[in-house]
Amino acid sequence: MSQPHFQHHHAALSVAKFGGTSVVDYAAMQRCAKLVASRPQVRLVVVSASAGVTNALVALGNQPDAAERQAQLDTIRRIQMGICRPLNEPEIATQIQCWIDELTTLAEMGPQSSDLAAWRDQILAFGERFSSLLFSRILNRELSQHGGAACFDVRQVMRTDSQHGKAIPQQESIRALCQGALLPRLSQQVIVTQGFVGADGNGYTTTLGRGGSDYSAALLAAGIGAQEVEIWTDVPGIFSTDPRLCDGARAIREISFAEAAELATFGAKVLHPATLIPAVANDIAVFVGSSREPALGGTRILASTEERPLVRAVALRRQQTLVTVHSMNMLHATGFLAEVFAILARHAISVDLVTTSEVSIALTLDEAGSSANGHALLTDEVLAELGQLARVEVERNLALVAVIGNDVHRSGAVSEHTFATVVPDPVRMICQGASPHNLCFLVDEAAADQVVRRVHDRFLSQPA
Ligand code: ADP
Ligand code: ASP
Ligand code: MG
Repeated sequence: MSQPHFQHHHAALSVAKFGGTSVVDYAAMQRCAKLVASRPQVRLVVVSASAGVTNALVALGNQPDAAERQAQLDTIRRIQMGICRPLNEPEIATQIQCWIDELTTLAEMGPQSSDLAAWRDQILAFGERFSSLLFSRILNRELSQHGGAACFDVRQVMRTDSQHGKAIPQQESIRALCQGALLPRLSQQVIVTQGFVGADGNGYTTTLGRGGSDYSAALLAAGIGAQEVEIWTDVPGIFSTDPRLCDGARAIREISFAEAAELATFGAKVLHPATLIPAVANDIAVFVGSSREPALGGTRILASTEERPLVRAVALRRQQTLVTVHSMNMLHATGFLAEVFAILARHAISVDLVTTSEVSIALTLDEAGSSANGHALLTDEVLAELGQLARVEVERNLALVAVIGNDVHRSGAVSEHTFATVVPDPVRMICQGASPHNLCFLVDEAAADQVVRRVHDRFLSQPA
């Protein structure tokens, strides 16, 4: 093998992802552009929509009345034009204006003949299309001495299935497409592209679900063979609990893939739960840091860490729904679980926690988290199908608290101290044992913040 070829494949290559607050306005984008310019290993940049834009697009996708529609479009125009003005590149302002007109028409016309979910994804994708074009121009100036930057339409490479609103990326196709259409471009320019957005095999626009840009960055990193993904956000790393919830929360320096995956799954919004799948499979290191204060450092997510604390962090996921399914016939017992899960699978409903007794199953669903593209999970249809074989009870306004760590499943101390701190608030459901990394339980939504603080203080507050 010739030397240059060898070097080409082994030069450090990194993907940087910037979340919504990091690209919320011109000043924020400029900070991120400087950060990219200071990191020569970063050749690919993935951006989210500017903060506030995806929420406005979701509202548009819910087919509001004309007044509400106008209000949402005004919000979007204000945010995007606020970046165009200081950028001062007339062709870019014209392009953004043109896309806003396209979006306006799409929103006014409604789904027409295309199906509702496909129409919504077309609308949702505009946020990242705006932010990536604008950011590429700001970065291009910053890199003018180093080949500049260009915007790339991720739909050329981010191949997914056709489940609009929560499309599943097809990693093998993505890799092949990245190798052909994206990797060769990175040697000339730094490429800026869209997170969250994909396209199915027919070229229809799809989206990966709320918060999906982190996942996009990891998928693209795997696609181009990068060694690292940098997730730049509004906090300097992954904390021992959501820093908005608890003053005592502290940044974690190093965390294992397994612990971080559980933390993300159980509600730490700082990382989309699927992000670590391509990272683990391709041995890509993940870093989480603050784009506003990069000097504060951040969290490294690695295959294994030196320290393996019993309790690493506490996560909280709000708005959980508990469904209890009581079999009406005990003799039915053998096939009962299978039948219940078959119904849920048919409706693409994913279940988080499960407990069973002799004649009933209790399971939790994340209704709010799954409704990014307007999907309702527990439709009348699902309830009717479940009702055919069982009596169904639905309880809402619950929150899932997860204590994350190592060998939690073997430690009496974790459950003992956890539940001692939860008292006197009632615990509605408990799950422990399937994973060495978590102990999960459900409490009333209203008690959740307090419970998290008490559990965090018990295990994770610094000794005074
Ligand atoms: P971005 O727009 O950059 O993707 P997000 O809002 O999706 O940012 O995620 C960052 C937020 O995640 C933080 O502002 C913080 O409130 C929240 N968060 C929840 N749990 C944690 C945690 N354990 N560590 C850090 N941040 C957390
Ligand atoms: N813009 C999308 C959202 O707000 C994706 C992301 O930010 O990761 O959900
Ligand atoms: Mg996010």
